[in-house]
Amino acid sequence: MGSMDIDQNRHLSIREAPAKSDYDQGLNGLTLDDVTPTSALVSCQHVFTGTHTTPIVTPIYHSATYIMDKLDDAMQCFTDGGSIYSRNSNPTCEMTECAINALERGAGSLTFASGMAAVSSIFLGFLKTGDHVVFQSPCYVGTTTALKHMAEHYKVETTFVTDVKTESFEKAIQPNTKLIWVETPCNPNVLVVDIKAVVDLAKPKGILVGVDGTFASPYVQQPLRYGADFSMHSCSKYVGGHLDLIAGCVTTSTVEQWRVLKHMQGTFGNMLSPHDASLVLRGLRTLPLRMKKHCENGLLVAQFLDGHPKVERVHYPGLESHPQHEVAKKQMIGGFSAMIMAEIKGGSKGGATVAEVWTILVVKYRIKINVRIFKLAVSLGGAQSILEHPYTMTHGKYLLSEEETKKSGVTPGMLRISVGIEDADDLIADLKQALDKVDLS
Ligand SMILES: *Cc1c(COP(=O)(O)O)cnc(C)c1O
Repeated sequence: MGSMDIDQNRHLSIREAPAKSDYDQGLNGLTLDDVTPTSALVSCQHVFTGTHTTPIVTPIYHSATYIMDKLDDAMQCFTDGGSIYSRNSNPTCEMTECAINALERGAGSLTFASGMAAVSSIFLGFLKTGDHVVFQSPCYVGTTTALKHMAEHYKVETTFVTDVKTESFEKAIQPNTKLIWVETPCNPNVLVVDIKAVVDLAKPKGILVGVDGTFASPYVQQPLRYGADFSMHSCSKYVGGHLDLIAGCVTTSTVEQWRVLKHMQGTFGNMLSPHDASLVLRGLRTLPLRMKKHCENGLLVAQFLDGHPKVERVHYPGLESHPQHEVAKKQMIGGFSAMIMAEIKGGSKGGATVAEVWTILVVKYRIKINVRIFKLAVSLGGAQSILEHPYTMTHGKYLLSEEETKKSGVTPGMLRISVGIEDADDLIADLKQALDKVDLS
């Protein structure tokens, strides 16, 4: 026999549609349309059958494989749901995905082993040789690296835009553009892209739009509402919220897109472990509450820094001086999150003094740590306040090419600040005493 006729869309042991929570099924007399996204996120339940009572917390299903009663059961799992093998579906991960989708309101969500597993699954699932991608620079360095890999190994073409203007995205589009990858607010300079404007120029050309909204969280920003195809988050940040896990998620606008990603995940095996899925689900239950405090603190700290004589400029979408403040007001709901980029006067020396950073320029001088509550660390979005120095720690010459560094506008004086949920007065006092020690002479 020659080649077998195989349905390429059918992958062994992959379910055909996302799992459903009690709300998705209308089991308690309410559907997702009857409550707010926040209420659905906090109260949605996994559907548990076979006993009189249901655990209010979804159990961690450590099981790798699942017992079947009869041969037909495997087939049944494809169409009606149910687990066969935990790489392909796990009830704890599925409940976490239902909770994410209760906020995002797409066709379905998927959890991944990391934010980068989520990003790379979209790239691998939807791009092929000869396709073209438009993205921003700077953006999350892992994303830039993944696209460089796609260019080198799969001959995917890439164009990066160095500002966030809709016209710049438009100019970068080519006849073979398949995907526009938007990061908003973007890392590390907290500029904001108008999601709807990008969708409006992509849609008539059949171009997919993916949004990395990690800096905003899915509570503050829900890109699918504006017509985006993918909403992606690093759950290691606000979604998990406690700096105790690495995870990612994607919500898609159609079931077909969801199935492509599910297929990628089942094939490449970058699913989230059920233990971490359980932590993500716990984080999600308090996401709305945490984000309210993050947003409140973010604005107060940004306002303090904005008026400070030793601060050159502050980027925070909630400040009127932010170049895309009007766009942010439109697409960030309930607040502007808590990521701030502050440029300290005195270039690398100022930034280094506040954070005790080893820049190339000050590598010889180990300067005292001047912040006390803020911790010098990468990552963001946790309960604890963190700051980092993009030029040496996450962007800049070590990770980007000289051309990219120059165009990206990442300067030695920049500090990226993730404002936590401590009380704002204490955070402001901490930054104030640190800035007092910056010597501009
Ligand atoms: C952290 C981050 C990622 C990558 O997420 P991981 O969970 O660390 O893999 C992607 N995009 C942005 C904007 C991030 O901040």
